Amino acid sequence: MEITIDSVTYNAKEGQTVLDVARENGVYIPALCWHPRTGKAGRCRACVVEVDGAPGLKEACILEVRDGMVVHNSSERVIKTRKMIVNLLLVDGNASEMLSDVGDKNELAEMATSLGISQPEITIDTERIELDESSAGIVFNPNVCIHCGRCVETCNNNVMHEVLDFAWRGNHSKVIMDDDRPMGKSTCVQCGECVQVCPVPALAFKNAIEHANSTAIKTSRVICPYCGVGCTLEVHTSNNKWLWSTAVEDNWENLPNKGMLCVKGRFGFDYVNHPDRLTSPLIKKNGKFENASWDEAFDLIASKFLELKEKYNPRAFACFSSAKCTNEENYLMNRFSRGVMHTNNIDHCARLCHSSSVAALRETLGSGSMTNSMQEARDSEVIFVIGSNPTWNHPVFGGVLRNAIKNHGVKLILADPRKTDLYGCADIYLNLKNSSDVALLMGMCHIIVRENWIDQEYINDNCEGWDDFKKSLESFTPEFSEEITGIPKDKIYEAAKLYARSSPAAIYWGMGISQHSHGTDNARAVVNLALITGNIGIKGGGVNPLRGQNNVQGASDMGAMPNDFSGYQNVTDEKTRNKFAAEWGVDPADMDSEFGLKATEIIDQCGDEIKMMYIFGENPMLSDPNLHHAEAQLKKLDFLVVQDIFLTETAVLADVVLPGVSLLEKTGTFTNTERRVQLSRQAIEPLSGTKQDYEIIVEIAKRMGLTNFPGTPEEIFDEMSLLTPSYHGMSYTRLEGVGLRWPCTSKDHPGTPIIHADGIVRGKGLLSALEYRGPGEETDDEFPFVLNTGRLLYHWHTGSMTRRARVLDTIAPVAKMEINPSDAATLNIQDGEKVRVVSRRGSIELMAEVTSRTAAGAVYVSFHFAEAAVNLLTNDVFDPVSKIPEYKFCAVRVEKLKGGDVE
Ligand code: SF4
Repeated sequence: MEITIDSVTYNAKEGQTVLDVARENGVYIPALCWHPRTGKAGRCRACVVEVDGAPGLKEACILEVRDGMVVHNSSERVIKTRKMIVNLLLVDGNASEMLSDVGDKNELAEMATSLGISQPEITIDTERIELDESSAGIVFNPNVCIHCGRCVETCNNNVMHEVLDFAWRGNHSKVIMDDDRPMGKSTCVQCGECVQVCPVPALAFKNAIEHANSTAIKTSRVICPYCGVGCTLEVHTSNNKWLWSTAVEDNWENLPNKGMLCVKGRFGFDYVNHPDRLTSPLIKKNGKFENASWDEAFDLIASKFLELKEKYNPRAFACFSSAKCTNEENYLMNRFSRGVMHTNNIDHCARLCHSSSVAALRETLGSGSMTNSMQEARDSEVIFVIGSNPTWNHPVFGGVLRNAIKNHGVKLILADPRKTDLYGCADIYLNLKNSSDVALLMGMCHIIVRENWIDQEYINDNCEGWDDFKKSLESFTPEFSEEITGIPKDKIYEAAKLYARSSPAAIYWGMGISQHSHGTDNARAVVNLALITGNIGIKGGGVNPLRGQNNVQGASDMGAMPNDFSGYQNVTDEKTRNKFAAEWGVDPADMDSEFGLKATEIIDQCGDEIKMMYIFGENPMLSDPNLHHAEAQLKKLDFLVVQDIFLTETAVLADVVLPGVSLLEKTGTFTNTERRVQLSRQAIEPLSGTKQDYEIIVEIAKRMGLTNFPGTPEEIFDEMSLLTPSYHGMSYTRLEGVGLRWPCTSKDHPGTPIIHADGIVRGKGLLSALEYRGPGEETDDEFPFVLNTGRLLYHWHTGSMTRRARVLDTIAPVAKMEINPSDAATLNIQDGEKVRVVSRRGSIELMAEVTSRTAAGAVYVSFHFAEAAVNLLTNDVFDPVSKIPEYKFCAVRVEKLKGGDVE
């Protein structure tokens, strides 16, 4: 249809509002309560227009278009009314505050300027309300709030934290947090979305207020350095320092974060300018680090690597690449290890998080990644979340899930030993005992097969291994599953029925599935469930491991793995080796033709097979299991190089430390959990004394005699995509905007949101016959509790970044151990008291948090705190296929310490 606005004709679609058409065509109609993400409100009346044939003025944000509609946006009556609205908003004496610029655009000021208003025509004195400055990062100034309702709407229906609301009436009406508490004392998680949508400076970031008058603010588009959601954001910087972050608004509907951020993406960047940053290479002399020049460090590294390679053999070298670094840098590490050092001993922290999921997915389906996209959550009829706490670990996706459940009728089955946030919106909650996942999943399969809720046609056409699989189900009776999982068999039946009889049904999982000594079996069981119900290759279905680090998918894709070059091209295939050797200018005879060692095997082999290591952006001295063992092993090396931005617990053990740069100081690509490759742009100059990580890798190679390395991130990407079929169609130009999801095999390929849609990549999906196997160790009288480890919302991994981010560290400053109230009562432990946790391998001391989130008989500790390093306790027993450690189960005892609170 067509409408005219101020005599200009525009095309319009049914269902659009006049405001939609105006915005689409660059016509300015002010709107203070409407926002693209909070939608129609019809509250502020700033958008009033006149329409031929319609009585009175109409709000453009709720007025749906009709063919032939004639709209007046600048008539005398419209302008007069808008002026009155602005005057009424400014009337209470706070005009200068209301019209000030704090951070993002002030939409009221923009409207006032468009109407030629700089001061209200009249003012009245109103009582001044105290500012709420209780939050570490946000200020709420109720004096300038215009009650538009955007913050309340977005808190309740977008990010789904359900903290903000309106309270009181008339003049006293105001936005409150919970039951009218200060923001910092409320349940607000400080995601900052309310600030982003606020059209005036009522909600503002503290850093933005501090720099309100700065004219030198620069804005750059980057990818969040934390989780695998891969949020796209703009960082606002000044004087080479990060100030605040906002989610990208442009084309937000097609970005993974849909205009939202979590607290880490919002506030987790000041580590970049932290005084602890390394700014000079360090060389250890007589047991002490001394500053060194880059030349000295490069020469020493190149000569030691060459010397030890000659003295032992190429496989005496191993490297850890980094899931925090770019695809380009990971590709270079793969090239350095294979093309310069001639060994496949390269791995990274995917070994510790989802290697078992990847192993199972590749074995059963032929592709080791998430099959579907996060955007499809609302297309599912039911979602089964098992062993994942997305509202803490992938918070923006956690919000997307809660939105799908609350606003789009999606049903949720939640299986987790802890009552995570999703517990509150689960249709069925399965509180399984730690380490009993196979019994639950195969028990559900048993019921589905017995009740004939299977998709037999799909199985016949697309699966193999049916007979063996079916036979193995015989032992997983509901009674057996109940005994092992602790879940009543009727509840398992209900869950099996809801999952099997809904279509499409998606499964999302996290490290609660993967980090077990039978993690690969766990993931195989997940795939079994999806295959027998035909939930592979369809929109809203699939099997979806939520990847942890922001580039753990990319590091794997780039060949930072012992078995594969980039794109999962096998190192034992001669043709593949020759292809890489030719491009890299290496003699094919020098290329290692056998699988390399996996990360956990590398640590075990230090001092034996492995004599030298190059650890790039990883911190095994906090992330590996049984840290006493890891430390003893790393100390056996002849030569250790660590490249990082801080002197981490691992860097302390190195012979040479190289200061690299943070995400804000580099350009490169990252691949998120749904295989989406996105481009992040350099926002600030590298700190003086540091070097770009790719330049460091290339320089070491050059000093070892290899000179043909590509020179810029874009050139590295182009070399990689040339050699990597699944990235073949990608280029920096094509990645601008919303990125591309692999496989993307040619320059005109649109990318692939759903894998297996045209048939299972492996040919036939493999159904796995499984047996139940218990954890690597059991509880007993001496160690009666099960320790489960994981993350917190406010910190990330080994804490080297988030614990140096002021807001995050203010909110969560100390290590805590969750314990159930009944166990706390038995041990006479009060909330906040200091306890000691002891396993068969070590002990730590930290604060008790008494909470029913954790079940009786279990305790939960995060691994972010070096002073209470939980991996001193964990068990270095490994899954036989993937060699992933068992972080999710170790037997401990808890001792109350004398001396009271740790605070
Ligand atoms: Fe987004 Fe994850 Fe970063 Fe949070 S941590 S902003 S969810 S990418």
